[in-house]
Amino acid sequence: MAPPAVGLVPVEEAQAHVVAACAPLRPNRIPLAEALGRVAAERLVASEAVPPFDNSAMDGYAVRAADTATAPVVLPVVATVGAGAVPDVPVGPRQAVRIMTGAPLPDGADAVVMVEQTSSRSGGREVEVHAPVTVGTALRRAGEDVAPGDMVVDAGTALVPGHLGVLASVGVSELSVFPRARVGVLSTGDELVSGSGALRPGQIRDSNRPTLLALVTEAGCEAVDLGSASDDETSIRAVFTAGTQHCDAVVTSGGVSMGDFDLVKVVLGELGDMRWMQVAVKPAKPLAFGVIGTTPVFGLPGNPVSSMVSFELFARPALRKMMGFPPSAWRRPLLAAVAEELLERRRDGKTHLVRVVASLDGEGRYRVRSVPGQGSHQLAAMASANALAVLPDGAGVSAGEVVRVMLLSSS
Ligand code: AMP
Ligand code: MG
Repeated sequence: MAPPAVGLVPVEEAQAHVVAACAPLRPNRIPLAEALGRVAAERLVASEAVPPFDNSAMDGYAVRAADTATAPVVLPVVATVGAGAVPDVPVGPRQAVRIMTGAPLPDGADAVVMVEQTSSRSGGREVEVHAPVTVGTALRRAGEDVAPGDMVVDAGTALVPGHLGVLASVGVSELSVFPRARVGVLSTGDELVSGSGALRPGQIRDSNRPTLLALVTEAGCEAVDLGSASDDETSIRAVFTAGTQHCDAVVTSGGVSMGDFDLVKVVLGELGDMRWMQVAVKPAKPLAFGVIGTTPVFGLPGNPVSSMVSFELFARPALRKMMGFPPSAWRRPLLAAVAEELLERRRDGKTHLVRVVASLDGEGRYRVRSVPGQGSHQLAAMASANALAVLPDGAGVSAGEVVRVMLLSSS
């Protein structure tokens, strides 16, 4: 890749700077039922076997396999055992016990004949076995799924539904996980109003706050609405001070550009250890990042598309790191896709992120086309896209060429 324009910070450098300043949160113990989507902070080892006992994989008859060698053969049925019952009658030579799926295997038996391979005789007192079975047929042995001492979930695993089931199967009812980050979201700007009331001249509606609150939630965090601050230092300072005391991280938008009223970077510089960057990316060039006390503050640009892209590039990876996710799960998936049309750009020392619709073709390959409206204020166009095509500095990507895309949603 060509070097970025003078004074611009490469995207990777800005990302590395931000991520390095954000440490994983302290783990806590929670009930298993609340663990979906959390990252395990401990290695979980089974203390018991699954299945806990040898049992039948089928409805049928528990037998001694050797007795079926001369099948067809008729055997007396000496007992019945259902799932959850304890067999009290063993299977003796040339005997059978009626058994249900999941029921413990009676002593003496070494195979199960599935009911479809049998005929009931004498009102159920006898069974005819049609074909021979071998030792172990239709049996599930104790520990075949999990043996005592097996690791079922490693530390650093992001928990999906199957993990919760496995943990339940070995009797784990609570575990240590990295908590959700509580992330405050703040808008800044004298022009902003919330809600649906009439706009006075010069006013616009605050769209960044709902968007960023949703992105924060989607990233797995607990979103906290910190409202909106006007463009004065006192107001911004007050919200920052309160927000950083009550939250694990704060995300703000607006006030980080070159304008006279861009006071977020001023206040952030006063309150904390702040770095203000012009990143070699379009959109989302300005970024103020700082730490107040121990709380990271992400000062994202105000333009609605820029704030979303900046969140994806810088805030999301850092917040995911704070929640214990491994580096592979910090960012959105980066895929290879075929450009259906020319994705044009000019050389300017920046990486361009083009709003595209990515869809799977008949061969299971992603194909992308750009959405109309690529301005950093055109949020509706951004909302209609599901991916960002990553165009390195240069002349763009021709139709039919492969381009990397950051997939924002798969629908
Ligand atoms: P700023 O970075 O504060 O100069 O803002 C850049 C542009 O984004 C301006 O046009 C702002 O009006 C707009 N903007 C800033 N914050 C928001 C917001 N919360 N919702 C919608 N637009 C915003
Ligand atoms: Mg502003």
